[in-house]
This record gives sequence, structure tokens and C-alpha cells, in this order.
Amino acid sequence: MAVIREKKRVLIIDDSVVIQRLVQARLRADGFEVATGNDGSEAIELAKNFQPDVILLDIDMPVMNGFDACRALKDNSTTSSIPVIFLSSQTRTEDKVRGLDIGAIDYVTKPFDPVELRARVRSAYRTKYLLELLEQKAQIDGLTGLYNRAFFDARIKEEMERARRYRHSLALVIFDVDRFKRLNDTYGHSFGDVVLAEVAETARLIARQTDVVARYGGEEFVITLPEQTLEGAAQLAERVREGIEELQLRHNGEKISVTASFGVASTIEVGYESIPELVNTADRMLYAAKESGRNRVCVASKEKLQQSELATV
Ligand SMILES: [Mg+2]
Repeated sequence: MAVIREKKRVLIIDDSVVIQRLVQARLRADGFEVATGNDGSEAIELAKNFQPDVILLDIDMPVMNGFDACRALKDNSTTSSIPVIFLSSQTRTEDKVRGLDIGAIDYVTKPFDPVELRARVRSAYRTKYLLELLEQKAQIDGLTGLYNRAFFDARIKEEMERARRYRHSLALVIFDVDRFKRLNDTYGHSFGDVVLAEVAETARLIARQTDVVARYGGEEFVITLPEQTLEGAAQLAERVREGIEELQLRHNGEKISVTASFGVASTIEVGYESIPELVNTADRMLYAAKESGRNRVCVASKEKLQQSELATV
């Protein structure tokens, strides 16, 4: 996930110490933290350790030239998203085109105008920052601010693998707002949106930091609870259920009560082999909670699972 630091960092790789010092002085005055390297071969290590927001890269250097260093930076997953600006005395168009084709974001020729260089570094930084924001947004549900379905799908895969490897319990809570369609039809969609946002916030505040609360779709939500037992997950679900019941929601002055139903399952009872199996089991419990009167938590205990197996035979 994006790291937006207070102090922006620039890494300068240039075999000329004079250039290093010059650029360093200019950028420090602009509030950048600066690190330097003398050759392209140092670029990856320095970039990994210093984690710069922008890299200024010379092209002509003794051991590894800037083109090769840029290629290596772009090939490495930990450094590939750092914008590279070539800083070079090569003024030929073909060098500039080549540099940009390799993946640099900009190309500045020496001797450079310090004001222009600073502006270009700021611009590269802005681009990186916006891309990171976009990346974050792609994982977030716009209405509730929770993680979205795509993020949940990716995350549960990782959590399931970890749980299987260490034989940890991975618990899952699925819940859904009771009679949501009726709320929407009676009070309007914008009130429905408020309900979803409030319900989401309630779950987010009650969940542990390691739990992932996501919007599963429509009025359905899901909480992934790594290293949590069935009982622990059921207790958490119960607290979220109470929290939703206690929400003070109003529509045109009228107090509206909202409730939700919950299904809980864990790998200890269901097994580690299949994610759909875990999700479906929690979902079946949610359905059972709805069937037995809503506003309650239904847990997939071993006995219950055996019973339902018998029932489906
Ligand atoms: Mg040079």
C-alpha cells in the first residue's frame, strides 16, 4: 500500500560529485531528503534501502550506465514504481526516446536549469502520489470506505494459505442488513446509502486491526479474521450485531431501527481445502439466521455441520 511520507526523498545516481552536490543543494532547499550514488550498479540497492520517491539517473557512468540501471530498476518489483528522471548531457532525440521507452518518466539535459529541474522532480513526485492514490482507490468501496470484493478475494486467498501452512484457525463472518430492500423502498436510496455507511463503520470500529472488513456486494459484508477461533469470531459478530441494533438512525425526524443477520464459519470446522467451502458455509449460516427470525448470529459448529450434511443426504 502507498506510503505517503511527510518528507519526500530523492536519490541521485551520477558519477560526477559536482553534479551530485549541485542537485543535492537545490533539492534540499525544496524540502527533499537526498541520497547519492556514483554508479548505476548501486541503483537497486540504494533504491531498496532509501526508498526514494524520485530517482535522478545519469546516463554516462563507468560500470553500469543509466539505461541498464533504469531497466534493472523497472524489472525489480520493489523499485519498479519509483519514477526515474534521466539527467544527461546526451541531447540527441534518440537518447531521450530510448530513455523514455525504457520506462523513465522524464529526461533532463545537462547543463540544467535548477528551477526547471526542481519543477520536474515535483511533477514526478505528484504523478507517483496520484498513482498510489488510484491504486488504493481500486481496492476500496466508494460508498462505505471499506475494502471491496476484489480486495477480499485476493486477501482471503493469502490468509487461507497462511492458515493452512501453520494450521491456524481462519474465521469468516458474513452478514447482511435485514430487510434492506424494504428500507430502500420506504425511505429512499440515499437513506439506504447512509444505512450501509453506518453499518460498515460499526463493523470497522469493532473488528481487530488484523481483521479485514469488506463490502461483499449490495447490503452484504464480510469479515476475515485470521488466527481467530469460531467462538472468538462469533463473539465479535455478536458485538457488531449489537452495535448495529444500537445505531441511532433518523429519517425526517423518525427513528429508524436497523438490524443485521450473521453467519460464522472457521477452517477448524470446515477445513483448509477450499475457500468457496468456507464462504458457502458462513453464507448458509447467514441464511439460517435469516430463516430463524433475523437479527442474530448463526455459527457453523461441528454438530450443526454434521446435521446439515445428514439433512442434505
Ligand atoms: Mg556521467
